[in-house]
Amino acid sequence: MPRLFFALWPDDTTREKLAAVADRLAPDCGRKVSKQNLHITLAFLGNVEDSCLHGLLAGVAGIHADNFSLRLDTIGCWKRPRILWLAPSTIPAAVSRLVSMLNACLKEAGFQLEDRPYRPHLTLARKVVKQASELDFEPIQWNISHFSLIESNTLSEAVKYSVRNSWPLHPG
Ligand code: ATP
Ligand code: MG
Repeated sequence: MPRLFFALWPDDTTREKLAAVADRLAPDCGRKVSKQNLHITLAFLGNVEDSCLHGLLAGVAGIHADNFSLRLDTIGCWKRPRILWLAPSTIPAAVSRLVSMLNACLKEAGFQLEDRPYRPHLTLARKVVKQASELDFEPIQWNISHFSLIESNTLSEAVKYSVRNSWPLHPG
């Protein structure tokens, strides 16, 4: 059963900039997310039978949402999940609307929704042992024109993500 989530998947230029920040983290700060895995989760589905996806994907294909840009200007750490992240200090209304639309599709298709409020963040490292919030970096401006459905596969020790499908966002 594939393990799936909706995400913002960086274009190559943005991925390079994100990886450059990740490269500057202390080697012992925790388990760094590999360059090709950097993303922002929009909504997590979990393990889903392909046969349960048809209704959901039909709903998602009907989403008409505005494009937006994120200015990733903040680095921080959450102690309980022990992750180190980059995030925008200002959350554009369009990203919240997109997440609401995805959640409405998920609910309609019978999926269980997260009850935590959504906070967009890009995980740089997991199992963080040493905070790196003092890292000085140039804010990353990321123009987002599509969102994606990602499949997560754990292969021995490493997790590999692949883009299953992408949908465009539209100039607002
Ligand atoms: P690993 O679990 O092997 O450490 P990972 O967390 O990167 O790797 P997944 O567990 O497949 O891989 O998670 C994919 C994405 O979904 C990640 O961004 C993760 O933070 C997010 N995610 C995972 N589980 C949940 C959950 N229960 N609720 C919300 N988001 C989740
Ligand atoms: Mg996980």
